[in-house]
Amino acid sequence: MTDSRYVCSSCGKTHEGLPTDWGFKLPDEVFDLSYLEKYRRTRSNTDLCALDEQRFFIRGILMIPFTHQEGEFGWGVWAEVSKPDHDFYVDNYNNELAQGTKVQGKLANTIPGFPEITGLPLDIEIQSAKSRPIFTFPRSADHELAIDQRDGIDHTRHHRFLELCGHFDESDA
Ligand SMILES: [Zn+2]
Repeated sequence: MTDSRYVCSSCGKTHEGLPTDWGFKLPDEVFDLSYLEKYRRTRSNTDLCALDEQRFFIRGILMIPFTHQEGEFGWGVWAEVSKPDHDFYVDNYNNELAQGTKVQGKLANTIPGFPEITGLPLDIEIQSAKSRPIFTFPRSADHELAIDQRDGIDHTRHHRFLELCGHFDESDA
């Protein structure tokens, strides 16, 4: 490994290198339930979640390309999908042939700094069992997060996301 410590052009402090992904443990509506309600009404693992056996969610990645360096930032977010699409994903979780299957969903997390994005439509592409589904906003989407996904983000914006998510509160702030 090369030494990734550097002096940050955004805040002037030394970072070990900024994380290139940020994940949400559960869909917001499930996360917000009380301890007991969560136990009574939901079941979940790190990829799948059901609420009241009526609403279904899968976890995937919203990739945001970097404009200042190689690679991309990955938001690990949840999408609400139909029961048939949820069932397909479960049934084919280890089926390589399902890779590339496209379904539709709706964003089920609010990302700090992006107001009112819950419920936005997403195109979902199932990957192999080793990678999470890829979430992409439709071409017609014109909100800020979709524009980020289309045009990419620079270091300052990457840094800002992590600030809003609280990354610097618990590490080298
Ligand atoms: Zn910084």
